[in-house]
Amino acid sequence: QAKAGGGNRYNFYTKVLQAEVLNSLNMERDLRRAIQCDELEPYFQPQYDLAKMELIGFEALVRWKHPTRGLLPPVEFIDLAEKTHMIVEIGYVVFERACAQLEQMQQHTKSSLAMSINMSPRQLEDEDLIEKLTSIMDRYNTNPGNLLLEITENVVMSKTAKTLEVLNSIKALGIQIALDDFGTGYSSISYLQEFPFDQIKIDRQFIVNSHQNETDVRLVKLIVGMAETLGLEAVAEGIDNIEQLSKLQELDCSLGQGYLFSKPVTGWEAMKLVTGEKKIEDLDLMQPHERL
Ligand code: C2E
Ligand code: MG
Ligand code: MG
Ligand code: MG
Repeated sequence: QAKAGGGNRYNFYTKVLQAEVLNSLNMERDLRRAIQCDELEPYFQPQYDLAKMELIGFEALVRWKHPTRGLLPPVEFIDLAEKTHMIVEIGYVVFERACAQLEQMQQHTKSSLAMSINMSPRQLEDEDLIEKLTSIMDRYNTNPGNLLLEITENVVMSKTAKTLEVLNSIKALGIQIALDDFGTGYSSISYLQEFPFDQIKIDRQFIVNSHQNETDVRLVKLIVGMAETLGLEAVAEGIDNIEQLSKLQELDCSLGQGYLFSKPVTGWEAMKLVTGEKKIEDLDLMQPHERL
């Protein structure tokens, strides 16, 4: 009896496992096709100068327009993309679309806009990286000084001489480098000095209670001060209410992004923010249910 039950359980788990393997194989095949069929595209989240309350640029965030499952956020496919190295290809797609978008936007404004693009560690390992970035920037007349590549603390942690060399070659192209999700990993202040960073992005977890929790207020203050000391720009991620914004302004955090201003939007909608068709004054009209 017990043995039979165990057998059934065994069969059950085997089936679940098989289903999972099949599912991930399907996903992998799906994702490969998605790259071929142009189903991946960046959305753009605006970034603001918090003192002047002016638009300064955008962060490109990839989305998968899945034919049956709808619009998928990165959490649904980035891990798989990393595991299969497809992230390298996807990275170039995003980089190219972001450069194309920036070129279009610059035709509508005199002020120069920043475009931030996320980079996975795998992309930094690609031998053709510098050559490919250069040729894409040439194609879209991109001013490299307007681009920032965001890397996470993991990259810094697993640092090799090679990583540092690649980051320095990126800098040599004139592209800036941002340290994303700052505070979530274990990088040390010495890393901040050793790596050629221009910007640090304070992770959303510190921003969430930055208007009410004294410890978080002090931490954000500390990070902003440290950024200033090191000559880096500080960016607050995930600002989603007015109280947080006021606090960050008080703490002199220079830049920010978050649902309070706007969720990531299509290139077409992002353009309206550039042309002024949609203004920052309209942004607080955005209701929570309109956020993605
Ligand atoms: P990230 O680079 O830290 O991006 C910020 C994430 O926070 C985005 O999620 C954004 O939509 C979300 N966010 C922005 N404002 C708010 C807010 O006020 N509240 C809340 N709760 N969330 C906010 P998303 O687009 O789902 O991206 C998740 C992560 O996926 C990114 O985190 C980034 O690490 C990765 N990712 C996105 N696009 C790419 C890409 O093209 N390449 C690579 N390698 N990674 C990417
Ligand atoms: Mg980012
Ligand atoms: Mg981040
Ligand atoms: Mg984050």
